[in-house]
Amino acid sequence: MARRNLLWTFTPPLFVILLVAIVLVTGFAGRAMRIFFIDRSTEELQRQGKVLEAQFAPLVADGDYPGVQAACQDLGRISGSRLTVILPDGKVVGDSRSRPDQMENHADRPEIAAALKGETGSAIRYSPTLGHQRLYVAIPSFAADASAVEFVLRTSVPLTQLNEVTGRVNRRIALVGLALFLVAGGASLLLSRAFGQSLGRLQAGAQAFARGDLSRRLRISSTTEIAAVAEAMNAMAEQLGERIATTENQRNELEAVLTSMVEGVLAVDTDENVMNLNRAGCRLLGVNRDTALGRTIQEVGKNPMLTRLAQDALAGRGPLERDLHLGAERNVWVQVHASCVVGPGGKTIGALLVMNDITRLRRLENMRRDFVANVSHELKTPITSIKGFVETLIEDPPEEPAELERFLAIISKQADRLDSIISDLLALSRLEKESDNGGIEVHSLPLGSILERVLRDLFTRRPEAETRVALRCPAEARARINAPLVEQAVTNLLENALKYSPDGSPIALECSLAGADVVISVRDEGPGIAAEHLPRLFERFYRVDKARSRQMGGTGLGLAIVKHIAQVHHGRVEVQSRLGEGSTFSLHIPREVEA
Ligand code: ADP
Repeated sequence: MARRNLLWTFTPPLFVILLVAIVLVTGFAGRAMRIFFIDRSTEELQRQGKVLEAQFAPLVADGDYPGVQAACQDLGRISGSRLTVILPDGKVVGDSRSRPDQMENHADRPEIAAALKGETGSAIRYSPTLGHQRLYVAIPSFAADASAVEFVLRTSVPLTQLNEVTGRVNRRIALVGLALFLVAGGASLLLSRAFGQSLGRLQAGAQAFARGDLSRRLRISSTTEIAAVAEAMNAMAEQLGERIATTENQRNELEAVLTSMVEGVLAVDTDENVMNLNRAGCRLLGVNRDTALGRTIQEVGKNPMLTRLAQDALAGRGPLERDLHLGAERNVWVQVHASCVVGPGGKTIGALLVMNDITRLRRLENMRRDFVANVSHELKTPITSIKGFVETLIEDPPEEPAELERFLAIISKQADRLDSIISDLLALSRLEKESDNGGIEVHSLPLGSILERVLRDLFTRRPEAETRVALRCPAEARARINAPLVEQAVTNLLENALKYSPDGSPIALECSLAGADVVISVRDEGPGIAAEHLPRLFERFYRVDKARSRQMGGTGLGLAIVKHIAQVHHGRVEVQSRLGEGSTFSLHIPREVEA
């Protein structure tokens, strides 16, 4: 539909109304004035006729028609009206403006006809004689006995004056009308502009609200209706703003909760597109939130099982739970709980997948499984050996005492091995238990005397080591330690250095201060360890050279025990080694740790 502005909407009807009003007012006023004027003139002519009738009665009665004509002319001049005297047969016998003998019979003139019937007659007519419109009033004059109309006296005045006056009045009304027209036009222009501006402000405000600028408020106009609209719109904007703020707060709270959750949360809609994914979810799936939102779960999860879980949940087959391996290269294990999200009205609007990171748990389980397998394997070798020799001794005892002695020596060695493994396992489990139970007992002790004691015990057991091991420890080196544990750790490192480096090669036991730590290091000049073994060296039962380790009576647990001892002191153990260049094991222990 074609649109018009306010001015064009209101002004034309207003003008039409004004025009009609002016025409009607002019018409009615002119008509009323004319009626009034004619009524007044008729009365006036009637009065005149009545007065003059007496002058003509004797003349008509005597048949003195020239006298009638002369009187018509005299009285007509004096009164300013045209006077005509007509006999009952319609013959004109006197007229102040014409010669009666030249005038036609007047019996059929309506005012004359009425007067002949004894009534006062009046008529307005164009006078062909005088060439203009006139008002005629005819009054009957009765005989003395009032039996019949003796003659009719007709008075008449021109209506030119009336037409002039009404014309003048009409012109004035037209002028006033024009002025009103202009004033109304101007007023309509101003009003429509003012109204248009008010509406424009409302429109601008509504557009601002639509753009989301709900803090803006509309100016309250002085016009009641527009002010009411503005107030209603302001109230609407305020309510809308409050509702949006509440919704935003709720959304932010939800986002905050989701973000701070340790579990990954993934929400998909019924088309399997990702609706929401929290930070933990992004980390577990290895995706970016911005690129994930709106994409399908197939693209985001890249795991058919995860997609299947979401589909099953959407199909209402839930709640479901499954452990999934996400991506071989990232090696992430998650336990997924999937359930369908039901909206208002009980309709399924999506599926929710909550993912728990169980990678560590899985790794620990694997380690435990490996450890049990390793322990069984480690114990089985000496037990099989012992069993074999004992069975031989029972079934086929050697006759040579030397042979018997050799058998028993082997059994004893394997028993010692079993004993070492079990002792080391017990030592490890004790360490774990102590760290689980809240830590070990520590005291601030001088390290020099502790290391000297370690060497003393070592030299007692291995006198040949005395020439090889050199100790260097500053007197002020102290640390809060559990002495028996640190002694065991250093002993293990020294035993390894002695075991794995050639006889006679020097070994340095040193203690130094490095920042907040004391560092106890054992350096040998042995064969060194290849780089690929270093990361796994401190694992339980890990050996670089299994045969050599066993031959040397190693359990594969020595370094694992050292690592645990470092950990219960809140420290760490490091190794630096290169093939052919010897090895250095360093035990870092914080000096002031509260264990
Ligand atoms: P083991 O009882 O076999 O000595 P450890 O846990 O003490 O077990 O050591 C693990 C492995 O690390 C050893 O089997 C050995 O191969 C290697 N290793 C440890 N200390 C040294 C060292 N000083 N020089 C070379 N290799 C070493």
